[in-house]
Amino acid sequence: NAAVLLDYPGELERLLDVTQDIEQRLGRVREVRWGPRTLDLDLLLAGSRVLTTERLTVPHALLHERAFALLPLLELQPDAVDPRTGASYAARVAAFHSQRIERLEGPEWAK
Ligand code: ATP
Ligand code: MG
Ligand code: MG
Repeated sequence: NAAVLLDYPGELERLLDVTQDIEQRLGRVREVRWGPRTLDLDLLLAGSRVLTTERLTVPHALLHERAFALLPLLELQPDAVDPRTGASYAARVAAFHSQRIERLEGPEWAK
């Protein structure tokens, strides 16, 4: 897993259109529901924005449950907070003792 920080002033559903188009163009294939995929681009957090529509929940509905999503996000934004509760994601992830996460590459991997 990896996180990317975007400067994006537009509608979040338009951004979802873009990420879903990228998933399709890169040949996303999933044989089994919840099974392994070739690619998954999710919108984790959009600053203080909170959105629930048929297609999109922001912050991502499971972000606060997933160390594998929170740790990459916190590398980019260490002071990120859950806009629904004001709670710090760093404090949240510190409480996850059971989710073993292994760093595969440093932040320089994308350069
Ligand atoms: P998970 O939610 O467990 O990460 P997933 O990423 O494997 O599941 P997908 O098959 O990629 O699930 O997406 C299913 C639907 O989730 C998408 O069609 C999209 O409309 C919806 N969705 C809701 N919220 C988000 C979000 N924050 N980011 C991306 N997709 C979202
Ligand atoms: Mg996902
Ligand atoms: Mg997804």
